[in-house]
Amino acid sequence: MKITGIKTFVCNAKMRNWIFVRVETDQPGLYGWGEATLEWHTRSVVGAVEDMADLLIGEDPLRIEHLWQMMFRQHFWHGSGIVRSTAISGIDLALWDIAGKHYNTPCHRLWGGSVRDNIRLYCHLGGGDMKQFYETPVSNAARFGELAQAAVEDGYSAFKSMAVPPTKVLEGGKAVAAAVQAVEAMREAVGPDIDIMVDCHARQSPTMGGQFARALDPYGLYFFEEPCWPENIAGLAEIRSSVNTPIATGERLTHIGQFNALFAAGGCDVVQPDITHIGGLSVARKIAALAEVHRIALAPHNPQGPISTAASLEFGFSQPDYVICETVSKDVPWRDEIATHSHVIDPKTRTALPGEKPGLGIELNLDEIAKHPFQQEAPQRVFYDDGSVGDW
Ligand SMILES: [Mg+2]
Repeated sequence: MKITGIKTFVCNAKMRNWIFVRVETDQPGLYGWGEATLEWHTRSVVGAVEDMADLLIGEDPLRIEHLWQMMFRQHFWHGSGIVRSTAISGIDLALWDIAGKHYNTPCHRLWGGSVRDNIRLYCHLGGGDMKQFYETPVSNAARFGELAQAAVEDGYSAFKSMAVPPTKVLEGGKAVAAAVQAVEAMREAVGPDIDIMVDCHARQSPTMGGQFARALDPYGLYFFEEPCWPENIAGLAEIRSSVNTPIATGERLTHIGQFNALFAAGGCDVVQPDITHIGGLSVARKIAALAEVHRIALAPHNPQGPISTAASLEFGFSQPDYVICETVSKDVPWRDEIATHSHVIDPKTRTALPGEKPGLGIELNLDEIAKHPFQQEAPQRVFYDDGSVGDW
């Protein structure tokens, strides 16, 4: 079997342009789907896929690790920058989809078979609607409580909130007090048995991240995410050692060496590799092996499109320390019209059951995708009250 073509299909889903990658073969009807979505860098990733296609056309798509090594190591520049690692991921996912279809089995069976019966899903407040999740001011604690209640009414036993505002490198207590009130309102709204997560989006300095982490420690968060820049592993380890709350990070890392350093330094309890950014499922499995040594929980970052979700779930069915999967369902109202998936979601418990279709078990509706062509993503710029630049 030989690879005959690699194509990208861009679908504008409001906050993101989903980039779908199709790897085609010389076997009639046999192709694989991957996803390489990278918000605000859509054209760069599409170009990177195009640049890499030249390496792969004519090669055997079943030699996945060999092709991954080619994509990462040839020519000269290693593929761990975010644009190229995302492009590699899209192709890698499609190669695993081809392998599953070729051997007529879901991907997780290629990796040793299912290690669990179902996977718990968590949602964003507002179901992933950009305005509700990112733009509800932390000072509006009552609204956080309402959205938390709605998530639970929707069947979720766990949800994530952005209950920590952007802060300067050093600030007084006002922002921390607001975060405490927002988390308190959510806890009051849903009771003690629901798992609440707070994502800091790496907006904080280690000092401020630590202040938020310690102030929120009494509320029993399931995990506290990206409390400082991901590059600052010592800062993450310091924050982690000062609280009981599990610390999560990893969605912006793109090389296995970064994960290795993070784990070795005790920088997290929960790792959130993004299967569409780390180099795909081939790398996800290596990171999982590293995490297992440290008994670090896996909870992949997955706010993108339907193929990212299918890949994150196939991965989860094969990984013992996988605890929960991030999902988005209300980013665009037509999400379910562009793809069919093999896994089954129980709407009462918001858990995913494995499907029987081969590969990633997903098929896309190209006519529907064509109705949502590329648009420039809406800017998300953050400036502090003195006009200086903050992190989104
Ligand atoms: Mg995050």
